[in-house]
Amino acid sequence: MYRSHNCGALRIDDIGKEVTLAGWMAVSREFGGLTFIDLRDRYGITQLVFDMEGSPDLCNQARALGREFVIQVHGIVSERSNKNPNRATGDIEILVTDLRILNESDVPPFTIENETDGGEELRMKYRYLDLRRQNVQEKLFFRSRLAIETRKYLAGNDFIEVETPFLIKSTPEGARDFVVPSRVHHGQFYALPQSPQTFKQLLMVSGFDKYFQIVKCFRDEDFRADRQPEFTQVDCEMSYVEQEDILNTFEGLTKHLFRELKGIDLPAFPRMTYDEAIAHYGSDKPDIRFGMLFCELNSVVQGHGFGVFDNAELVVGFCAKGQAINYSNKDIKKLTEWVQRPQIGAKGLVYVKYTADGIKSSVGKFYSDEQLKKWGSLMGAAEGDMLLILSGEAEKTRKQLGALRLEMGNRMGLMDPEDFKPLWVLDFPLLEWDEDSNRFHAMHHPFTSPKKSDIDRMLNGDHETMKALRADAYDLVLNGSEIGGGSIRIHDRELQEKNFKLLGFTEDEAKEQFGFLLDAFRYGAPPHGGIAFGFDRLCTLMQGSDSIREVIAFPKNNQGRDVMIDAPAGIDGEQLAELALKVVE
Ligand code: ASP
Repeated sequence: MYRSHNCGALRIDDIGKEVTLAGWMAVSREFGGLTFIDLRDRYGITQLVFDMEGSPDLCNQARALGREFVIQVHGIVSERSNKNPNRATGDIEILVTDLRILNESDVPPFTIENETDGGEELRMKYRYLDLRRQNVQEKLFFRSRLAIETRKYLAGNDFIEVETPFLIKSTPEGARDFVVPSRVHHGQFYALPQSPQTFKQLLMVSGFDKYFQIVKCFRDEDFRADRQPEFTQVDCEMSYVEQEDILNTFEGLTKHLFRELKGIDLPAFPRMTYDEAIAHYGSDKPDIRFGMLFCELNSVVQGHGFGVFDNAELVVGFCAKGQAINYSNKDIKKLTEWVQRPQIGAKGLVYVKYTADGIKSSVGKFYSDEQLKKWGSLMGAAEGDMLLILSGEAEKTRKQLGALRLEMGNRMGLMDPEDFKPLWVLDFPLLEWDEDSNRFHAMHHPFTSPKKSDIDRMLNGDHETMKALRADAYDLVLNGSEIGGGSIRIHDRELQEKNFKLLGFTEDEAKEQFGFLLDAFRYGAPPHGGIAFGFDRLCTLMQGSDSIREVIAFPKNNQGRDVMIDAPAGIDGEQLAELALKVVE
């Protein structure tokens, strides 16, 4: 038997017991004739004591132990004279009578403590040691409980968990596929699923009615901060449902998770249309922890001789409460440079400050105080407040102002990570016109159904009509991040064919890629719809972590590399030949 107790188990009531513990030597210190060791395992830390006077050999043995040696000790639980109230086992220590080294350890490349001296790169290279740190382990314990509670809720609501294959043919979710060459069928490739989308729809055709899966998805995208090429979804699908049924079921899941894991009872989630989200927040994933809603100013600012505003498609701003005093001319200049960075791309920034000494504005030359007051009253500004205004082409300007709103929210301390504000964004456009490729893209994916009221227009409308079609598509947004998204699906073969056509597939291409789905729709496909949650992101947000890498056991870095196992990597000539592949330099 390696141990009678773990390192987090013993309490004052255990005093006098003879116990055996095993774990890692975390810290050792000497004090007079005594040597103290912190013995660590997953469950906690227990203090060991060795007495030089009583048993010098044993004590010398203890002093020779290196950090992270794996040891087993036998001894008596005794009361500590100076207790540690910050530790669950802080009332006791083990008077060691026997010590055995189970394995030695090289000196670790960084300290295995909550506050470590290792940088991220080093910790990722030795992720297995990073994962030995208690605060890092806690992230994965949380993740495990989140998965368990997800399963509990869904199983309790009659969902069945079904595994779908990883070696498949492309499922379009808007990214590139990772492909796997076939050895047996030279020149042919599997694609790894970007999501189990088509399979879960087929499961509905099969009659499973309610499906879920906690599943890896793979998307070969250009690297963006905090994206992983493989990530986990809670993927769900239901039959005989309308949008409302899906929203209720998954609002229920989200509330359940917050209740069980955070002890938070979330009130009913607000809902907003896509158009409202864009108009008021400049984003389809608005952070509603704070206000600063957009106010469009065209009607009051245009026609007064300020060319920049007069020529703009849109002039739009928001009111930053109490900020007039915080922004000197120099600060405004810096903020202007901030919005002018290429990532944001605004041309300039107009401010209006309402101060005790009067109204100050970068466009004071063009507008009277009366006019500037009117802008303020439109935006609910009072003394001490500051308006920030951008202008230009409508879509771009809203996006830029959206970024500025978040920046200001952050600077003003309005984005408390423990303040959870979910909402549903509804009525997404069905199609998105892409100027570059001169074609429509599916805003969600090609299987998403237009709203019932838009089906006729979709079947018979002209090009402009198509741009205005709305879908039964919805996103669940939490604190400015999309944590879930889904739609009611097309279950009618003809409508699906029409959608493929709109998206630029020829009949043959549609058949070749999705013939199996179109065929399945011949055999009684029930009305159905679903959603998928980004499990890593949800887990990150719920824990207030900085990056999704923290909640993934073995994540890739921002370049998509696993620096521990050194992947991706080349393969040898023999393997290439077997796969009939050639590397072109
Ligand atoms: N397959 C979709 C996605 O990965 C989710 C859904 O429509 O259910 O975003």
